Amino acid sequence: MSTTIGRIFDLTVMKSPNKEALYDVRKDLRFTYREWSDEVNRLANALMAEGVKKGDRVSTFMFNTEELGTAFFACAKIGAVFNPINFRLQAEEVAFILTDAAPKVVLFEEAVEPVIASIENRFPHTAFWFIDSAAPDYAASYHEKVKAAEPKAVETEVDENDLYAIMYTSGTTGRPKGVMHKHRSMAEQSLSVIGATKLEAGDVGLVTAPMFHCAELHCAFLPRIHAGGSNVILHQFHPKKVLELIDSEKITKFFAAPTMWNMILQENLADYNIESLKLGLYGAAPMAPSLVHACHERLGIKLVQAYGMTEMGPAITFLPEDDQLRKAGAAGQACLNHEIRVVKPNENGPSDPDELAAPGESGEIIVQGPCMMMGYFNREEASEKAMHGGWYHSGDIGYLDEDGYLWIKDRVDDMIISGGENIYPREVEDVLHAHEGVLDVAIVGMPDDRWGESVTAFVVKKDPGVTEEELDEWCKNSESLANYKRPRKYEFVEELPRNASGKIQKFVLRKRMEDVLT
Ligand code: ATP
Ligand code: MG
Repeated sequence: MSTTIGRIFDLTVMKSPNKEALYDVRKDLRFTYREWSDEVNRLANALMAEGVKKGDRVSTFMFNTEELGTAFFACAKIGAVFNPINFRLQAEEVAFILTDAAPKVVLFEEAVEPVIASIENRFPHTAFWFIDSAAPDYAASYHEKVKAAEPKAVETEVDENDLYAIMYTSGTTGRPKGVMHKHRSMAEQSLSVIGATKLEAGDVGLVTAPMFHCAELHCAFLPRIHAGGSNVILHQFHPKKVLELIDSEKITKFFAAPTMWNMILQENLADYNIESLKLGLYGAAPMAPSLVHACHERLGIKLVQAYGMTEMGPAITFLPEDDQLRKAGAAGQACLNHEIRVVKPNENGPSDPDELAAPGESGEIIVQGPCMMMGYFNREEASEKAMHGGWYHSGDIGYLDEDGYLWIKDRVDDMIISGGENIYPREVEDVLHAHEGVLDVAIVGMPDDRWGESVTAFVVKKDPGVTEEELDEWCKNSESLANYKRPRKYEFVEELPRNASGKIQKFVLRKRMEDVLT
């Protein structure tokens, strides 16, 4: 018996057909599992009528919607390759992905229609289906197509080793790469998450991080269905809306990137009844221990951390709730059936998987396991480099402690070398985050004639009165920050540039400073 995404869905439909499966807040629409299954089958049949066959790509370009979730399972059933595109991307970035992935059909929504309108004529062999009312003239109506199709199950044979999706990386360090995953890997990922976040049929999850990103799709949305629970789909993250929904829908668990947790904590929590909330999951970017602690205190819940990358499905470690105090700041232990190594970095190419760093010594994090990607779509050379020797080379620096816990220092590309010393921005960020007057902070290395690079802090103030002198004093007095790591320069900004996954785009900050300096 093959473990495919379609089968995971069907098992829950069979087990609890009359249970509420999803609530799409935007449309105020609720589906039981049976109703949703009919909708999935209708879409699968409609796509096949359009000529979509096994192996063909189908892209989605939208915020969080029922339709994205329906497409995810409909593609799985016909063996079509699901390709969710980041809704924040601009026309040329979307055109790049449509050229690379060459989908047969693109499903999109009103909020991003102008982007599609400006490029659709470059893709004459692609069908565009609009999920909202009044489709533009170059597009068909998704819902008319779905309504006209039969709800009968499709009969395509799909194997667990078939390609299930192409998911583009966040593009934090350059152009996004199309990561290929097979069905089986995502079933394994889902099982790991069920274990780590103790998911069960009674769980009601809130989908508020972007569904196009695997952190939400594979670490929250899918495992909840796998465990027989249900999903409330919020179109776009909004802290007040999140709190209202926890209150009204009795949400028990959800995933959010660190910046989202930070925004939730800025709200007046006493206005909401959030007693139903049991557990929060965070990841995708580092979260300062002071922020994790604030969530525990003020939301009255425990948090679980996931660390990983699109290439691994994404999670490769979990830090369970019970370890949050004992191992505050660690990324956790390897996921089910995964092996993590820290190896000596190699400046001239991929690091050697057998050149292990000593326990406690920092090096490149590499990993092996059942959730590893099949490779990057259309990029053989990059795939070979990234999966050299059968290990995925993360480009992240970290170390393993004596208990087998992984600690992330930072990305290789973000490390600052100042006066010959390595400085990991994250350490400095954690110290500044703990200051009461700081809402958000990013540390970057700026070119410096004397030191090679100098540490620069970009700070979003919480307290408008906070000064550079005060923050410098705070860093000086910090027991966890050596003197040479102290920022030499502070820039106060209104907000930090982030991509849709909540990651700070440090290259934007560097560029901004370079432009000011030249
Ligand atoms: P690109 O590969 O296109 O530059 P990206 O690496 O940001 O973009 P993702 O796959 O979304 O794309 O992100 C993976 C990266 O996010 C990891 O390599 C790591 O640097 C960071 N990350 C993920 N989870 C955590 C975490 N819990 N703590 C710290 N960093 C994290
Ligand atoms: Mg990456």
